[in-house]
Amino acid sequence: MKGYAMLKIGESGWIEKERPTCGPLDAICKPLAVAICTSDVHTLWEGAIGERHNMILGHECCAEVVEVGELVKDFKPGDRVLVPAITPDWNSLEAQAGYAMHSGGMLAGWKFSNFKDGVFSEFFHVNDADGNLALLPPNINSVDACMLSDMVPTGFHGVELADVQFGDTVLVIGIGPVGLMAVAGSNLRGASRIIAVGTRKNCVEVAKGYGAVDFVSYKNGTIEEQVLALTDGQGVDKVVIAGGSVETFESAVKCLKPGGKIGNVNYLGSGTYITIPRVEWGVGMGHKQINGGLMPGGRLRMEKLGALVAAGKLDVSPLASHVFEGWDHLEEALFMMRDKPADLIKPVVKLAD
Ligand code: NAD
Ligand code: ZN
Repeated sequence: MKGYAMLKIGESGWIEKERPTCGPLDAICKPLAVAICTSDVHTLWEGAIGERHNMILGHECCAEVVEVGELVKDFKPGDRVLVPAITPDWNSLEAQAGYAMHSGGMLAGWKFSNFKDGVFSEFFHVNDADGNLALLPPNINSVDACMLSDMVPTGFHGVELADVQFGDTVLVIGIGPVGLMAVAGSNLRGASRIIAVGTRKNCVEVAKGYGAVDFVSYKNGTIEEQVLALTDGQGVDKVVIAGGSVETFESAVKCLKPGGKIGNVNYLGSGTYITIPRVEWGVGMGHKQINGGLMPGGRLRMEKLGALVAAGKLDVSPLASHVFEGWDHLEEALFMMRDKPADLIKPVVKLAD
């Protein structure tokens, strides 16, 4: 089979590989559409997860099942499925402890294009098919379905980690596709006011559609000065971090009211320490919580998020800003993600309807 692989850090291309074999609990699937992620860029060009040779990239897609193992109960060849970016081992101790995304070690629930070949391939392997796949609701098209692999679950997890409640004022830092889903998730959870940090014109427009009302630019002075000015010096109840760096936590803590919570889903690619400002953290006693997490994967989560989209309560279509048709365009889509033209949110490659 053909797959688009990282040959080594900084080099990629199409390669031939053996089709993966299907264990008793597994499935082999073929993509209906794939989406490119910022993580593919971090992995390939920044060496974020270290060196990899001939590893097929990609972890965002929806697919058709072509083969299942003899112990798989709920899926069969021909089923159209949602595929989460994170595919835990559901019988692990970490999963039993409530942190399935860390099954097998910290962050090890992330398998596609990390520990094994990803989904930019004619066929790919899914471990624990009953635990990880979900049927694709018939009224969700293949392009929108890709947004359910990573962007929706991650943005929404930021909202869960920040514990957004009815009436909260929420600050969302970074409005790429993950941050946009954090805006949408905060809105669904009943935030009364959403302030977003970001300036790209199309992202600002999409964020408005998802419920953000105030915008702050991190290029126009500190985030905290601008957020405190917008809130009469009070600050916000919750912060979701979906962009920035280790320094962003300083701003987030300064923006929070006492008792506030931060939910970080941003990948911190450099720096040794995260700075927490002593005074604004209540000299150690401000009840300001900082949470950070990898998105949960799994079937239940996929079914629930798919149901939200299928019911018309969440429109993910504005995220897919650039849609290509056919594998021939995969490389173009990937390079576009690296080069980030100003109007880009997500590039998607559609292979079937
Ligand atoms: P993105 O690069 O499209 O979006 C990040 C946004 O943050 C950009 O618009 C950028 O302009 C903005 N930004 C940069 N510096 C900033 C600053 N100092 N303050 C505020 N905003 C700033 O990426 P994305 O696809 O939306 O993903 C966001 C992050 O989430 C990435 O780091 C990605 O690796 C991570 N991620 C995490 C998980 C998870 O499970 N936790 C899953 C997927 C992606
Ligand atoms: Zn992703």
